[in-house]
Amino acid sequence: MGRTKVVKIAGRYGARYGSTLRKKVRDILMKRYAPHTCPFCGYQGKVVRVSTGLWMCRKCGNKWAGGAYVPKTEVARYFPNVIVRE
Ligand SMILES: [Zn+2]
Repeated sequence: MGRTKVVKIAGRYGARYGSTLRKKVRDILMKRYAPHTCPFCGYQGKVVRVSTGLWMCRKCGNKWAGGAYVPKTEVARYFPNVIVRE
């Protein structure tokens, strides 16, 4: 996987799309791959994204609907009941 000094993880896109866009992508990607905390067991670092908006905790096995790139969105803060166990 490519990565560069400036755009780090977004280096996978090579020289394409322009540096400003790649920096934006980097911010999103780094949020996505950062160690997230599981809302069910509170364990950090075992939360993985199954697909867009679908998150799973490898520790307790729970799955929940979250943001496309982060397991919990700003909206979920105001509507915590939206998160439902499968
Ligand atoms: Zn968990």
